Amino acid sequence: MRAIVVGAGFAGLAAALRLRRAGLEVTVIEQFDEPGGKAIGWRGVPTGPTVLTMPEIPRMIVGAFGSSLPALEPVSPLTRYTWPDGRVFAPELDIKATVAQLTAQEAHDYRRLLTEARAIFEGARDTFIFGPPPQTINLMQYGLRNGLKAHPLKSLKALVQSGPYLTPFFLRFATYLGANPYKAPAVLHNIAWVELGLGVFHLAGGMRALADHLHGLAQAQGVQFLFGQKVMKMQLLPSRIGALQTDGGWHSADLYISATDRHFTLQWLGLPIPRYRLGVAGFAVLMELSEPVPRGHHIYFSQDYAAEWREIASGRCSQDPTLYLHTDGDAAFMLVNAPSLPEAAVKNPELRVKDQEYAQYLLSKLRQIHPLPIAEWRAVSPQDYCYTAYCGALYGKAPHGLAGALRPGWGVAGIRNFAQVGGTVYPGGGVPLSMLSGWNGAGWLMGRVSGQPGRSGLENGSP
Ligand SMILES: Cc1cc2nc3c(=O)[nH]c(=O)nc-3n(C[C@H](O)[C@H](O)[C@H](O)COP(=O)(O)OP(=O)(O)OC[C@H]3O[C@@H](n4cnc5c(N)ncnc54)[C@H](O)[C@@H]3O)c2cc1C
Repeated sequence: MRAIVVGAGFAGLAAALRLRRAGLEVTVIEQFDEPGGKAIGWRGVPTGPTVLTMPEIPRMIVGAFGSSLPALEPVSPLTRYTWPDGRVFAPELDIKATVAQLTAQEAHDYRRLLTEARAIFEGARDTFIFGPPPQTINLMQYGLRNGLKAHPLKSLKALVQSGPYLTPFFLRFATYLGANPYKAPAVLHNIAWVELGLGVFHLAGGMRALADHLHGLAQAQGVQFLFGQKVMKMQLLPSRIGALQTDGGWHSADLYISATDRHFTLQWLGLPIPRYRLGVAGFAVLMELSEPVPRGHHIYFSQDYAAEWREIASGRCSQDPTLYLHTDGDAAFMLVNAPSLPEAAVKNPELRVKDQEYAQYLLSKLRQIHPLPIAEWRAVSPQDYCYTAYCGALYGKAPHGLAGALRPGWGVAGIRNFAQVGGTVYPGGGVPLSMLSGWNGAGWLMGRVSGQPGRSGLENGSP
């Protein structure tokens, strides 16, 4: 049996490995000339992910082939947070060292909110992360057993009220799924536990090294890669896909997986674009440094976090954004949240000029708070993220409101030989969940076409 996987990002690489492990002939088609998708990078500077959470997921996947991950180092402190008044907070996995930096009231709130985040995560993980996309019955079971832990009637904003410093600190985690934190449901508070309770890791060689490792593993297993071919269209026959067209010609297989943005896939299939709101994009400035600096992760909060999100919600890049800065040797990466683009603006060359201006503005801000020896820099704007994300929305659907937090599933109604995986669908974005989506989505598809949906080994990864 032959399979085609579109996209050589983390999800596509994981899907290809899973299919190959089951004995299929697998071809991966990728528009870029190299693997990694959002993690490809520029001259060794990241263009996307900088840290790894939940390393057990990639470890399980490479372990299925007798391989291990590139060296991992726990990040400590997890991130260094600085507020405009000069206050610094550098949380660690060690709770005592963390709360020692807080006032008595804040320490109480921190412990309480960490416990809340853990309860939400542990209650939800089997239904919303490791299992297949939940059906109504699974949602009902979850609701009965663990639903109240997720505060279904509360907003994230109401849940994490804890003073002027800790409130934006806890709100920010929702941005890891593309949310406006002021519109996110309380259930997204689980992300705080993933970082603050389970830890964050740095990978030798950065996240690009993980993509290269998966690519090497897939090649060694016999997966074929067609780089530099852009998929334009999928031929939809009654109940299945017959072939797909790239700018290099037609390709056909028995099974198809799209590990690209869900909206791209729907366009190739000629299906309607969903009406749900898209989550946020990002605006990054990549910097090559003239001398090495220590590795670090920094957040510099804006004066008024709520005002920043009001600007983004109105479609503008913030004039006082919260800055994320990652430094590592000769490379530095600065990222701010930015609105995704209206469809009509996606190919607007006017925006390019504004992008350069905004990047200069961010660099001038950075110079005041964290000077760096910058040799060269490059902006990566929402326009640039449009190559891998529809309208630049890095995680697809905005997880706003309780129903909004449910991710689209892997299937497309009426098409039996196809699965949609990756960071815009279930179980969600970020490197580990995208990989899990690819791995488990491929298992689900094989089970579906063989008529044995139970055989896909979703939790433990056995094909
Ligand atoms: C700025 C930024 C910072 C981030 N930080 C982190 C972090 O620190 N930690 C973390 O875990 N996650 C982070 N993420 C999220 C993470 O990078 C993504 O969720 C993850 O990489 C998504 O992987 P994917 O394989 O689903 O999609 P992608 O990486 O987008 O891969 C999809 C692939 O499909 C290809 N493709 C698209 N269209 C076509 C076509 N027409 N034809 C052929 N190929 C096509 C693309 O070129 C791409 O290679 C960050 C993301 C960004 C943008």
